[in-house]
Amino acid sequence: MPHPRLHPPPSAYTTLNLTTSGALLRPVPLGAPCFATHPAHNTTLCAALLANWTKSDTHARHPTSAMSPLYQGDTCNPAVGAASPSAVCAVGGSPMYVVRADNVAQVQLAVNFARNTGVRLVVRNTGHDFLGRSAGAESLGLWVGGIKGLEYDRVRGTVRMGAGTTVREVYELAEREGFTAVGGECGSVGAAGGGGGGTFGVVTAVTVRVWPKMGVAGVKFVVSSGTGARAENGNGVFWEGMYAYWRRFEGFADKGSYGYSQVFPNGEGGYTWSMLPWLVPGMGRVEFEDMVKPLLEEWKGLGLKVKPEFFEHDSLYQAWTRHFPSDGVANSNLRVGSRLFPRSVWQNSTRRDELFDTIRAVIEDGSALIQYNIKAVAPPGTPESAANSHWRDTLFFGIFGGFTAEGEEGEKMSRKVTDDWLGRLKKFGTGAYGNEADVMEPDFGEAFWGKNYPRLLRIKKEVDPDDLFWVQAGVGSEGWKVASNSRKWLSTQDGLLCRV
Ligand SMILES: Cc1cc2nc3c(=O)[nH]c(=O)nc-3n(C[C@H](O)[C@H](O)[C@H](O)COP(=O)(O)OP(=O)(O)OC[C@H]3O[C@@H](n4cnc5c(N)ncnc54)[C@H](O)[C@@H]3O)c2cc1C
Repeated sequence: MPHPRLHPPPSAYTTLNLTTSGALLRPVPLGAPCFATHPAHNTTLCAALLANWTKSDTHARHPTSAMSPLYQGDTCNPAVGAASPSAVCAVGGSPMYVVRADNVAQVQLAVNFARNTGVRLVVRNTGHDFLGRSAGAESLGLWVGGIKGLEYDRVRGTVRMGAGTTVREVYELAEREGFTAVGGECGSVGAAGGGGGGTFGVVTAVTVRVWPKMGVAGVKFVVSSGTGARAENGNGVFWEGMYAYWRRFEGFADKGSYGYSQVFPNGEGGYTWSMLPWLVPGMGRVEFEDMVKPLLEEWKGLGLKVKPEFFEHDSLYQAWTRHFPSDGVANSNLRVGSRLFPRSVWQNSTRRDELFDTIRAVIEDGSALIQYNIKAVAPPGTPESAANSHWRDTLFFGIFGGFTAEGEEGEKMSRKVTDDWLGRLKKFGTGAYGNEADVMEPDFGEAFWGKNYPRLLRIKKEVDPDDLFWVQAGVGSEGWKVASNSRKWLSTQDGLLCRV
């Protein structure tokens, strides 16, 4: 990336704007209306922004906004602007110019502009990326959110999605047309372009297989513990109840479970464990209740207070719209990382119990846990792909993390996530889900791609020898680093991208 003094002249951007039919934007940061020092200051807009700042749709519709602002440098936080009349809103790690692409020709023009000028290129769809990989200071952004187009091919059992298609749009089509699509839980996540960051090129459309419409049965519940007056369970019985669930992961996963739950400290001297939900596609409620019965009996024996709410629906969409939470985003201080734990841990009861004790200790040390009991074995005939090979024997995917502060405290917390919590858990599983991972993951190639990494690295060197496509902790990203960024202890994108 050229030093700012070596940027192409304004006339080059004028030409880019003309050739892309007026698609070039110079975006004002989303939070700017809350800053009295910014020309975009507007108290009405600011109030609306503050009310909706944690909703993902607020950010997804903006050309540069990052839902994990810490990695953009957090340079235009509306709460900061609203609280301090002298505060300044800066572009920080957001792209300087953006091509808002609606078609493939505009994508080609933006890519060629970056290749010919040496300006850093940053591809963005919705801005969901947890590692800041849709941000980059002094860059040209390529916003693919406008490339729509969603077509269901009933005969082939496939769906073709333009790069800007969201998960919600696919699920809504599935409900109308009577099929089931596999996708993320948050409706505004990109359905096509995610999955590893802009490393090899720009996806303009993708065709995926879909399945016949199927019913879904499941359960939701909340278990809380603590020492306060409102605590329903003591911490001892809480952990025993959790263990009774964890211990059965193999059996539940083999029946097709997707068990999605969260454990957070509740300020009552204990924890709240929320099942959000646990469901099995293709299973009826009676069979689901049968599967869960031994667990409920064990809980009864332990004296665990819990009120399970079972459900059954005709389609995944109906379960998704009724039972999944709406995720909050844009927390400036969140540091997370993840681990994929293999089935082999459950096949050795000593190791299994050691893992549970470690996870409990990490939570008791201050980490939150978002946990998934799943099975991602490749069905026969699955072709070779870039998918992380660690997924294939995963039984438990866990996201860990906590809140950082600025300065020394921030550095301490950040290192705790990487070196202490994830370090302790690495003993049981070296893999991590790259889209919901620690940006400081020491051996990210092995963790995010498993045995596929050496092959992907070879391909990267072949197809993009000049690293036109670069993202933090992406395939082949080792040769570059963001220098002079705001947080020395964290790879944030508010500095110049330089060769190592
Ligand atoms: C609230 C929330 C909920 C989530 N829920 C889930 C979930 O349920 N399941 C799950 O698997 N993940 C989930 N994720 C993680 C999500 O999959 C990743 O954040 C993913 O990277 C988002 O992709 P995106 O294109 O929407 O985001 P962006 O931030 O726009 O892009 C992500 C990365 O992909 C690259 N990219 C985007 N479009 C293209 C393209 N067309 N061509 C090439 N590169 C491209 C960008 O450069 C960037 O590196 C969630 C994230 C959040 C914040």
